[in-house]
Amino acid sequence: MQRQQSMQRSAQPPGHALASGTLSNNALHPFTRSAENSRLFAYEQQVKQAFSAIEPFLQRLSAMQHEADFEARAQQLASSELGFELPATLLVDSWIKPLDIGQLYAWCVFETFRSMSDDFFDSKPLADGDDAEFQAFLEQCGFHTLDVSPCADGRLAHVIRYVLRLPYRAVRRKSYAGAMFDVDDSLQKWSETEMRRYREGYPNQADAPTRYLKVAVYHHSSSQPNCEGCAAHGSDTQRAADAALERLKDFRQAVENSFCCGASIDLLLIGLDTDNDVIRLHLPDADGEIDASSYIDAAELHQATKSASTSGAETVISEYLKAQSSSLPSEGMVQLAARLLCGNLSQIDYVRQYHSGCYQDIGHQECFIGMGIGFEEVQLRNLTYFAYLQTVEEGAKDMDVGIKIFTGLNANRGLPIPVVIRYDYHSHVPGARARAEGRCHQMDAALRSRFSEYAERGLLHTLLMVRDCSNDAKAETVGSSLKLNEQVAH
Ligand SMILES: [Zn+2]
Repeated sequence: MQRQQSMQRSAQPPGHALASGTLSNNALHPFTRSAENSRLFAYEQQVKQAFSAIEPFLQRLSAMQHEADFEARAQQLASSELGFELPATLLVDSWIKPLDIGQLYAWCVFETFRSMSDDFFDSKPLADGDDAEFQAFLEQCGFHTLDVSPCADGRLAHVIRYVLRLPYRAVRRKSYAGAMFDVDDSLQKWSETEMRRYREGYPNQADAPTRYLKVAVYHHSSSQPNCEGCAAHGSDTQRAADAALERLKDFRQAVENSFCCGASIDLLLIGLDTDNDVIRLHLPDADGEIDASSYIDAAELHQATKSASTSGAETVISEYLKAQSSSLPSEGMVQLAARLLCGNLSQIDYVRQYHSGCYQDIGHQECFIGMGIGFEEVQLRNLTYFAYLQTVEEGAKDMDVGIKIFTGLNANRGLPIPVVIRYDYHSHVPGARARAEGRCHQMDAALRSRFSEYAERGLLHTLLMVRDCSNDAKAETVGSSLKLNEQVAH
């Protein structure tokens, strides 16, 4: 936050510096899945470039607004540069009055997000087809659910699919500022999970000897530890780790106190260096206890195993873990840890291959705020600042942080802050869709009232969406602050 003055979106589209890998394939770690790396990179580049094309496009549009045949030329340019047309009402009479670039900007961001979101649910670009295999592996390790709470910071939004290389549909992700997840919400999820095991045998039978595994992911920045770490913990890495661990223990305590008969859960703490995606794994000991100051460093593992034979990656890593730890957790936890670390080795090489070993955008460069409940389609780094909340009042702190970040990125330059308000619902619950839509509108009104100065100056724009997550449907638009008749009725 202290760097607000210098927070401006990089003028260079990310693809510019990422055009080619800087490591040849034979310099990669033997365990790195290079075909997967190139597929993940193609997706990241495609989405990031779509967003970064918006500003240069609007600059060109602004410069040509007084030229003859402006409207037709503008639409032609929008189609070729951005892949969609602009609302005609925003282009008319440009010879009399200046173009409303702020509204055009918000429209372009929302349209780009909608197209990315539709593509995600239609063609599943990040699916790896291994959901069932992963679930079977998880159960073999002694767990039936993997529930991950990263920090809400946009630089951790890719933690499931990229950093840990897990199938995103087989893992629960719910982000909170500072990884300070809601214990009551987690307890409710735990109860629901155990109830389904009893009633439906899903994901496995209730008498199977497996447990619920809760993971918290905190973060730090190795190059600028004092200002680019976690804002919620004053950029203090140890504080971030201690607080996340405390929250994990509270959750375990909550389960143990609320349900008898030996009910408990397993815990895992992960730290992420947002400069290069290297993880720190704080493994529990034989008694399930975690030490927030001792961890396995994936970069050290990368170095130590770089000459290993290509086969048996997870066995090599398990052996490494056993050699490093004095008190080992269960064999299943070691196996799971080996898989997470193995995935992270690919990601370390990914950053080395395509981002010169350290991201250019080590600070905030998100394109929009995502507010509400949902956003499964956002699995990319530094695209979205999340504010998961039921009401603006409850999530006031997260929203304030988000608006502050975007004041530096957008509002100080006169560009509006784009906020996508979203509620996912289950269509098998009667009335759920109407309630989700109602919540979107309530949230929109509360946001405008809390940040009325921004709203009155045209510096806050919203897109309202709902999604039926039980049918794996696409998200639907149910409203927008851009009152342009024809444009939001998709
Ligand atoms: Zn954070």
